[in-house]
Amino acid sequence: MQDLTQEILELIRRTSTDLPEDVETKLRAAYADEETGSAAQGALDTILKNVDLARSNSTPICQDTGTLLFYIHYPEGMSTRKLKKQVQDAVIKATELNYLRPNSVNTITGKNTGNNTGDDYYPTIHFEEVDENLPLTIELMLKGGGCENVGAQYKLPNTEMGAGRDLAGVRKVVLDAVHQAQGKGCAPGVLGVAIGGDRGASYLASKETLLGKIGEKNPNSELNAMEKQITEETNQMGIGPMGFGGKTTVLDTKIKGLHRLPASYFVSVSYMCWAYRRRKMTVNGTEISYD
Ligand code: SF4
Repeated sequence: MQDLTQEILELIRRTSTDLPEDVETKLRAAYADEETGSAAQGALDTILKNVDLARSNSTPICQDTGTLLFYIHYPEGMSTRKLKKQVQDAVIKATELNYLRPNSVNTITGKNTGNNTGDDYYPTIHFEEVDENLPLTIELMLKGGGCENVGAQYKLPNTEMGAGRDLAGVRKVVLDAVHQAQGKGCAPGVLGVAIGGDRGASYLASKETLLGKIGEKNPNSELNAMEKQITEETNQMGIGPMGFGGKTTVLDTKIKGLHRLPASYFVSVSYMCWAYRRRKMTVNGTEISYD
């Protein structure tokens, strides 16, 4: 099997230092939309200058290089054990080269491993098998701690909030999550929402929605309309970039519905900060490309 350690290292470098075009375009549009000379526009200006500097110097976009979340679709017959080792080796090398901050702390002892590896969950790698004639794809998301801390899970119905087991109830709790977060998740952010599933599947799916590009249309027309509505309504809250006030609190909303037990109705909200770092590598024989 091909050794892809160097190529995965390059995927990590790009993800940590080069903000995707769709995110940057949306941030630039937000800058143009804010009042000239406002604190909101100043915050976006600083963010955008930082994005340029990180790209030209190949340095991390943010000091918190986040939790490493890999999503690997591998052709039938490929060894996931070997792929996992290559990912871990690339992560260790990326930490040595300062593309990643040493971020993996043993929760019991408080000791940092120093190289971004740890137990079986660090880095987190999700594997899914595809047909043997399909390419190998490796997606990486770097999810910051500040935005992870403001993620939330709700169990409907929620009588205090008047949120029932329907899309109107979902809307109420998602708006509540953004209101609770205020600027703490490093707004402007992107909302990944999953409805249904068990608690674990729901959170997992809410993060997976964040692999999509900003502005991608939801194939479910009802959810597509709700995504637009929630983005608009959150932007009327006045929280603004980094909580300084303004018109831009959320850049986009992505919602996925999962099947659920009749007894449960969970809504999970994963908040992604403006440092919306996600990249994809595709391996087609000897050809390797990055998105
Ligand atoms: S939440 Fe995002 S932007 Fe804020 S410190 Fe963490 S990684 Fe950086």
